[in-house]
Amino acid sequence: MDKIMEKYCCEPVELLIANPDCPLKYRAWTRQHILTIPQDYLKENEVCISFKISYCPRCGTKLPENLTDAWWDIIEEKFGISELFDERLKDLPEEFKTDAWWKNRGL
Ligand SMILES: [Zn+2]
Repeated sequence: MDKIMEKYCCEPVELLIANPDCPLKYRAWTRQHILTIPQDYLKENEVCISFKISYCPRCGTKLPENLTDAWWDIIEEKFGISELFDERLKDLPEEFKTDAWWKNRGL
């Protein structure tokens, strides 16, 4: 239960996100909640579009701040990477591939 409340206001939303077929996703490394089309439902050559969401779709509670900009600021400053398709992103320290970097910084 503590794990659920750490990220979400509603347990049903946590359960939804855990389902890979659910269009609601959580990206821990940027603390980003998005609405998207699950990969298996995309047609051939169809580009996936994602929408950031700022409020819980069930209860309307404001979600924690999206840290995408803060993540890119650090990645650019520490590693000189500023492009989404930069091959070096695969070699980032594990801290920056998880929620560890923002938890370590108290964000
Ligand atoms: Zn909620």
